[in-house]
Amino acid sequence: PVDRDELGRSTWNLLHTTAAYFPEQPTDTDKHQARGLVEGLAAHYPCDHCREDFKESIEEDPPSLGSRTQFALWLCRQHNKVNEKLGKSAFPCTIQNIDRRWKYGGPE
Ligand code: FAD
Repeated sequence: PVDRDELGRSTWNLLHTTAAYFPEQPTDTDKHQARGLVEGLAAHYPCDHCREDFKESIEEDPPSLGSRTQFALWLCRQHNKVNEKLGKSAFPCTIQNIDRRWKYGGPE
């Protein structure tokens, strides 16, 4: 059975970590493949209402994949939209904070 919170934490872990190690100067192939990851998730994420809201959210604000920093900041915004919906506090989205959490540090 799907544990929505556990699935969410694992998925954010995968996404933020992927963005943290995305190239600062991605090739067209890198961008295409990262877009595929995000869109594939929006199509197949195994939580119906999460998936529907996420699809809408990425239509409003499509993945920004021009660089590692752009991708990381974009994901941070997307995650904050979910946080807001769930009544959780917003993460302060600067690349320094994101890297401290997802690249160099660990759980706060
Ligand atoms: P999580 O929100 O899972 O966050 C994990 C860690 O990420 C945090 O401890 C913090 O260190 C860090 N973090 C928090 N915010 C940010 C940010 N903005 N940027 C970078 N790092 C951050 N759950 C629902 O109940 N309803 C939904 O509709 C729903 N939609 C979802 C859509 C997607 C695409 C995903 C991936 C998950 C969704 N979830 C949804 C799950 C939800 O987002 C949480 O994962 C879940 O509620 C567990 O929350 P948590 O408080 O343990 O931390």
